[in-house]
Amino acid sequence: MALDFVLRNACIAGQEPRRVDIGVAGGRVVEIASRIDADADGEDIDGRLVVPGFVDTHIHLDKSCILDRCSSREGTLAEAIREVAAAKRDFDEDDIYQRARRTLEKAILQGTMRMRTHVEVDPRVGLKGFAAIRRLQQAYAWAIDIEICVFPQEGLLNDPGTEELLIEACKQGADLIGGCPYTDSDPAGHIERIFAIAREFDLDIDFHLDFDLDPSWTHLEEVCRMTKTTARDGRVTVGHVSKLSSLPPGPLAAMTTRLADAGVAVTVLPSTDLFLMGRNHDHDVPRGVAPAHRLLGSGIVCSIATNNVLNPFTPFGDCSLVRMANLFANVAQLGRPGELASCLDMVTTLPAELMNLTNYGIAVGNPADFVVLDCKDRTSAVAELARPLFGMKSGRRTFVCPPARLLHGA
Ligand SMILES: [Zn+2]
Repeated sequence: MALDFVLRNACIAGQEPRRVDIGVAGGRVVEIASRIDADADGEDIDGRLVVPGFVDTHIHLDKSCILDRCSSREGTLAEAIREVAAAKRDFDEDDIYQRARRTLEKAILQGTMRMRTHVEVDPRVGLKGFAAIRRLQQAYAWAIDIEICVFPQEGLLNDPGTEELLIEACKQGADLIGGCPYTDSDPAGHIERIFAIAREFDLDIDFHLDFDLDPSWTHLEEVCRMTKTTARDGRVTVGHVSKLSSLPPGPLAAMTTRLADAGVAVTVLPSTDLFLMGRNHDHDVPRGVAPAHRLLGSGIVCSIATNNVLNPFTPFGDCSLVRMANLFANVAQLGRPGELASCLDMVTTLPAELMNLTNYGIAVGNPADFVVLDCKDRTSAVAELARPLFGMKSGRRTFVCPPARLLHGA
């Protein structure tokens, strides 16, 4: 078969230190070998690491980049919800599109090629966010696969009209449904309704859950119970679960067993959790980040994700998942090579598993999706915050970020 492109001397993440050539034709990987002799266009990357694109399972494009219209004095979750709820009343579809586009382009330049974006739906904003993000999903399909999770950030049973809008979004093609029981006056009822809608439209579920540090109560057990009774093993994710960080070893082990038994996945959002948690402490502030590294050993699928960008939930954001992996490693006190490599897995292969992606990975037959990093292995990618040098999606180049150069004696 005639090849369109050969990526030469590549070190595929997870197969370090082996070097291979990767042959591409028709937008797909068609050959992987120690050496491919072909008269095709190509690039020799000299043993650098290549990943099949980063996977961000949890980001809010629709409410990104609104710091200019919000205040963030307390830095609490309650303030963030209140401020964004107020700002949201003035959102229109084009405003959402332009802000989301700015954030999405940053994510693409950081090597993200698969994304689950959580979009707010309620009677104030209606389906404007959903409509804007669907346009973006189509406009940027050349660079990134986006799935849209619609969810009621301000509650469901306490907010009449919200459920009808969620159902309308599902009818119009939302990819999955999310829940946010901590803002609802009836959290158990909220969870039950979200499972019911998911069943009606045969969708996966992604909850915002247990987003505080009080170990005396939890919604996680109810989500695990509903996952089992509705046979949605492998189709339910919980995000934040910062409460897990406040559990001593015994109760954490019990909760780990519950999660593993129910087949519920966990997404950690270190930047937001570090910013918002523990605000009632005036010293010795807890980190408040769920210990995903401790859950991995029990077979729980875990991802590390971006969450918010430049809003009162998180006034930071370059959309780099390498930075998120590094931030998590730093906060979780992980430094051994295997530990750092697992942090890179939590922004690549594991989130792909969480999203039930069937065509992810550098393998013959899969789309030719590559991001080349300026490093030699997964450990150095996380330890040194390796920069993405270029990306290719379905065999077409999507971005380039040439390495910085010193100008000695210039
Ligand atoms: Zn979120």
